Parts: sequence; C-alpha cells; structure tokens
Amino acid sequence: MAGQGGQLGGQQVLLLPEGSNRLQGRDARWVNIAVAYAVAQAIRTTLGPKGMDKMLVSEMGDIVITNDGATILQEMNVEHPAAKIMVEIAKTQDKEVGDGTTTSVMLAGEMLKKAGELMDQNIHASTIVNGYKNAAAKANEILQRISYPVTVDDTETLEKIASIAMGSKTIGAGSAKDFLAKLVVRAVKQVAEKKDGKVEIDDDFIKVEKKEGGDINDTQYITGVVVDKEIVHSGMPKKIEHAKIALVDAALEIEKTETDAKIEITSPEQMQAFLNQEEKMLRDMVEKIAKSGANVVFVQKGIDDMAQHFLSKKGIAAIRRVKKSDMDKLAKATGAKIATSLDDLELKDLGAAGLVEERKIAGEQMVFVEKCRDPKSVTIFVRASTEHVVNEGERAIVDAIGAVSSAIEDGKFVTGGGSTEMQLAQQLRKYATEVGGREQLAIQAFADSLETVPRTLAESAGMDAIDTLVMLRMKHKTIEGKSFGVGVYSGKIEDMKKLGVIEPLKVKTQAIASASEATEMLLRIDDMISAKGRAPSMPPGGPGGMGGMGGMEGMD
Ligand code: ADP
Ligand code: MG
Repeated sequence: MAGQGGQLGGQQVLLLPEGSNRLQGRDARWVNIAVAYAVAQAIRTTLGPKGMDKMLVSEMGDIVITNDGATILQEMNVEHPAAKIMVEIAKTQDKEVGDGTTTSVMLAGEMLKKAGELMDQNIHASTIVNGYKNAAAKANEILQRISYPVTVDDTETLEKIASIAMGSKTIGAGSAKDFLAKLVVRAVKQVAEKKDGKVEIDDDFIKVEKKEGGDINDTQYITGVVVDKEIVHSGMPKKIEHAKIALVDAALEIEKTETDAKIEITSPEQMQAFLNQEEKMLRDMVEKIAKSGANVVFVQKGIDDMAQHFLSKKGIAAIRRVKKSDMDKLAKATGAKIATSLDDLELKDLGAAGLVEERKIAGEQMVFVEKCRDPKSVTIFVRASTEHVVNEGERAIVDAIGAVSSAIEDGKFVTGGGSTEMQLAQQLRKYATEVGGREQLAIQAFADSLETVPRTLAESAGMDAIDTLVMLRMKHKTIEGKSFGVGVYSGKIEDMKKLGVIEPLKVKTQAIASASEATEMLLRIDDMISAKGRAPSMPPGGPGGMGGMGGMEGMD
C-alpha cells in the first residue's frame, strides 16, 4: 500500500491531471474520521424508544419523518466518500438484518474517533487495525456465549423481539405495538420453511402493503396477497369465492408487428374478415383460460379491450399489468404455476384462494387475494391516519420482520438496552490486558466505543450518562449482571431480560462486523486523490484508474 502511494507520489505530475486534489498521511485520515464521526453524530439522537425523529425535506419538497437510521442517511444524500461508506454500513445492516442501522453507524463513528485519538498518541494505524480485528473476533465469541436460544415455536419471545424492534418508531401507543408484533410473528412463522433441519425465511414473501386512512389498529394480516391493481372490466365479478387462479406471463393482446407492415385492404368484406380474424384470436385466448377452469386471471402484461369483454362474458375476473414480484408472491400464496403461454395453461397449474375481492381503499381499488390455504406468501396491510405515519409504520414493520426472521434463522437472541454492549465492553477490557502491548490500547478503545450505545440511550431518557455508565459497569463486573441495561422508561438501570427488552443476536454481530470492517478500511487509507472539482477526497466508488489505491480494496 505504502509502496503504491510512494510510486504515485514520485510520478504525481505524470499521473494526475491538473486540478486534482490530494490528501496524504495524517490529513487524509483526519478528514475521513471527522466526516464519518459527523455522520454518526447526525443520527445518534434517534437511538432507542426515547430517541427523536428527524424531518427531512427533499429538493422537491417531499417530507419524510422518521427515526430509521438507514432512511435518514439515504435521504441526507451525503457527498463525501467517507460519509458514503457510513451510509453503506447502514445499508448492509438493513439488508442483512433489517434492524440495528443506527447502532451500526454509531459504533463505526465511535470506533473511528477513538482510533483518531490513539493515532494522536503516535500509535500506528496498522496496530489499531490489528487490535480492532482481534477485538471484533473476540466480541463475536463473547456474543455467542452470552446469547440465549430461541426457536420458531417460541411465539412469546419472538413477539417481544418484534415489539422491541418496532420500539423506537412512532406508531401509536404501546398496545398498537403489541398488536403489530403479533401480526409480524404470525406472518414470519407462516412463510418459514424447514429445509434440512434448518428454518429458512425469505422475507420477500411477506408483502408489506400500505394505504393511508383508518388507524394503525386497522392494520391487517392477510393470508395471501394484496395487489395494488383493479379488476379491469366493470362487467367482471368483484368478489369471487373459492377462486381458481391462473397466473399468466403473456399478453392477452394481438401482438403488433415490429416492422411497419402494410396490409392492403381493398374491400369492406376484406376489412371485416380482418377484424373477424383478430376477434377470433382474442376469443381463442379467452377460451383457453376458460377451459383451464380459472375464474380469476392475473396477467403480467396487457389485456386487449375485446379480450376484457370476452372474459367478463365468461364471468372471469382479470387483472392486468401485475408486477413480476407480485406474480411470484401470488404463485407462492395460491400454489399456482405461472404460465408463460396460454397453450400451457392447465387445471393443475391453477392456484386457489378462499376469496378474491376488489375493495375500495382510500379511494383506490385494490385486489385482495386471501384465505389461501397454508400460503407461503402473506401480506401485512398497513393502515394509519396519514401518509407519514403509514410510511413510518411500514418501516417499523419491516424492521420487526427482519428482527424476527434473524432471530429464528440464527436461533439466538441477546438482551438490549445497552446491556449486551456493556457486557462486551467489560469482557473485552479483560481480554485487552491479556493481549498486552500497544494493541491492548486499541482493544480498550474498541471496548469503550461499545459503551456509546448505553450512553446514548441514557442521554435520550434524560438520565445522567456518567452515573448510569458507572452503575452499569458495577453490575457488569459479574456475569450475573450481564442483562442490566438502561431502563429508558423508568430512568433507572434495570434487568432487560426481566423487562423483555431483547433483540436478535444477529443485530449485534452484524453491527459490530460492519462497523469494525468499515473502520479498518478507513484507517488504512493514507492517500486520497480526487478528480478536479471534487473535495479533496476519494472519488466515489474508486472509478477506473484509481480503483487499485491502497485501502479501497475490499470495500464490499
Ligand atoms: P437501531 O436502528 O440501531 O435499531 P433503534 O432506534 O431501533 O436503533 O434503537 C435500538 C436500541 O434501543 C437498541 O440498543 C435497543 O436495545 C434499545 N431499546 C429498544 N427498546 C428499548 C427499551 N424498551 N428499553 C431500553 N432500550 C431499548
Ligand atoms: Mg431498531
């Protein structure tokens, strides 16, 4: 890495176009640390159930009110590459676990800040990187040890996890949270599939559909799929019981010729014959659907007006231009096979639903496919008074789905409220003294960084942060005190296990892994070269010629 930098340095005039910026050594690190820390600071006040919300207004004037770390960072549109890396941490966390985004970014910010302080004491970056690496591995080990087991059948525990994951989002009173937690757990359990002794959950198959209106308690669990489309023709039935459903990935239209073909028609009879031919083709298509036995058809592409008419005559309800993702969900929910050609459509390909119904929700038609038998795809249909609340409700539910799925797949959970971070910090400090040397300072810094979680929770609850940390450290001296954390409602330190403040283990393992990896990556950078007109920083994503720069490797 240093060699490459030196080489670049030696030939700077040749390599870099005029006007490009360069930052090296301490300056490069300092800027990255400062930027990353600023990003973390920007979202820390949102942590926990007593955390605050942010209102973000886009250039277009669109408003987002949220407390979701990933959403805030995305809406902030940060420019600096180090800031973008912080956003990546949140995205990864969101993708991998679905919860814990604020925590992961805060940890990274704190680890970087502490690393900066060590560097000021002339501790080399690579010593810090090594220390952090070891600390992260050790933390993982400790986490496994202090976690508790949970299975897919442990509904009560899973509901607590769901409720805590939704905890910090403003979605009505406590009772609403419990109600939603039940829906979430029911949905996750429904789509969970056992594969070679392991439980797998593909949460793509839990659709979270939303519409403003009503209130959060009107949120529904649907044993099937809600499709945001209407039944195409007014003459078609709007409520079909014992639906037999065809899914068609083909157009119910006459395909237009690609090239400009000319059809010469010289007499009215010919015109009629031509139209008759078109009509016959459409009629045949509809006939094929009818023959399969279907009384509802979802079409991924378009449906010709004439075909709509024929379908309605046959009493078949049809929905057109259905999204591919919805088609897949419908297939999973109803057991239908998606037909790519009408010729392939057979009775055995049809799916079943107890009820297919078009309903008018907040002035718009939606099609509910429900009462499916043992559906492997379900929907949570979120309602709330305004658009902003519906959106935040959706984010809360998505977080909860992620948390519950992770807990089941991993089979483990830990206690929240900063208790796990406290216990980790305690044990890591002990480990640091065993390691000794300069590296122990880095491991200690890593341990201290973890305490940012209880500290922030205490601050958000209006507690004295220092007193709280001192009391927690006392409790955590022994393993028996491992579940003591910040009681944000009582304003005291409390046993989180008793309080039911629990989180999936994966929230913690992933947050620590991505925070420490990003930290290590940023610490390794000692040379930043950026194109003309950009801040003295790395070009985003390290394009072309600079892709091989030290430190940018292994970004993913
Ligand atoms: P993140 O984006 O990191 O999930 P949240 O705003 O959801 O951020 O806050 C999560 C933190 O809040 C976790 O440390 C969790 O343990 C804590 N927390 C959630 N509910 C409670 C509670 N009732 N009491 C104490 N801490 C809580
Ligand atoms: Mg959360």
